[in-house]
Amino acid sequence: MTKTTGLRGAAFIALTIAIGATSAGAEEPALARMLQSIEHDFDREGLEPGIEFRGEDGGPRPGVRCATRPVADFELQFVGSAIAEHLRSAGVGHRMEEIEVPVHFHIMRKSNGGWNVTDAQIGEQLDVLNNSFSEHGFTFVLDGVSRRNKNRFAKKCLSASVEKKFKKRYAVNPETTLNIYTCRPKQDVLGYAYFPSDYPEDSFMHGIVLLHSALPGGTAAPYDLGDTAVHEAGHYFGLYHTFEGGCSKKNDRISDTPREKEAAAGCPIGRDTCSQPGLDPVTNFMDYSDDACVEEFTPEQEQWMKDQVATFRPGLSGS
Ligand SMILES: [Zn+2]
Repeated sequence: MTKTTGLRGAAFIALTIAIGATSAGAEEPALARMLQSIEHDFDREGLEPGIEFRGEDGGPRPGVRCATRPVADFELQFVGSAIAEHLRSAGVGHRMEEIEVPVHFHIMRKSNGGWNVTDAQIGEQLDVLNNSFSEHGFTFVLDGVSRRNKNRFAKKCLSASVEKKFKKRYAVNPETTLNIYTCRPKQDVLGYAYFPSDYPEDSFMHGIVLLHSALPGGTAAPYDLGDTAVHEAGHYFGLYHTFEGGCSKKNDRISDTPREKEAAAGCPIGRDTCSQPGLDPVTNFMDYSDDACVEEFTPEQEQWMKDQVATFRPGLSGS
């Protein structure tokens, strides 16, 4: 869980000053820099299992649907302020309607070549990404595939220190290209990613890490249809979980995804965990439902992703 630290408090004060500066028309990037300076002490290696999926041996395994960190209320507020400020200064026209993203796949295998992902699976994964995102103006094209046999990276890709090493070594043009790394994260985590405001846009830290068997054709049923990559790409473009903030007023900051108290599992259509209007958005890609259940992003999620790209990751849209 996210903890409030002294550093966070300091970041909050500094961000407040930055907001004042941007509102007064001073340097706009100050707010983005402050967001990047927040230290996120999220222990993703300590997450408790919340799902079950089929392991490589065919048996059930407890796992973690997503290890992307939660966001604090103050951070949501400042991201929103940064976007509003950007759109005021650059104009809404700066928001691209069509964004084509090159994708480089890094298949990190065991020393004996195990945990491979085939070219056919990669092609299917791109199809799933395109089928999910294209109606919202995002398309994905293959930039390349790199396969490497290295036990340490394949097995310890959930570790923050190991993650830095393989990303620093392997990332291809992170400013313009989505780097997807497959491996076998400990704790049976299906995937994790970062938000656009987390790092400078050319940082090698951007990208998505996926369990190798959660790609289409993998063994991780019911998470074997490629929607883990869609979910993590949603984070990569700036979306939060539909249950982020639970039934609170802010919830996930997206008004056309009804509030939701907690993550869904399976496909509980009709579930309603908050007293406010609307059933839980269990078919939304940013919930935790089974791959066969999730099928949509909302219009406001699309706009939020494009606003995040325009503000924090303009290189992705060729700007
Ligand atoms: Zn997630």
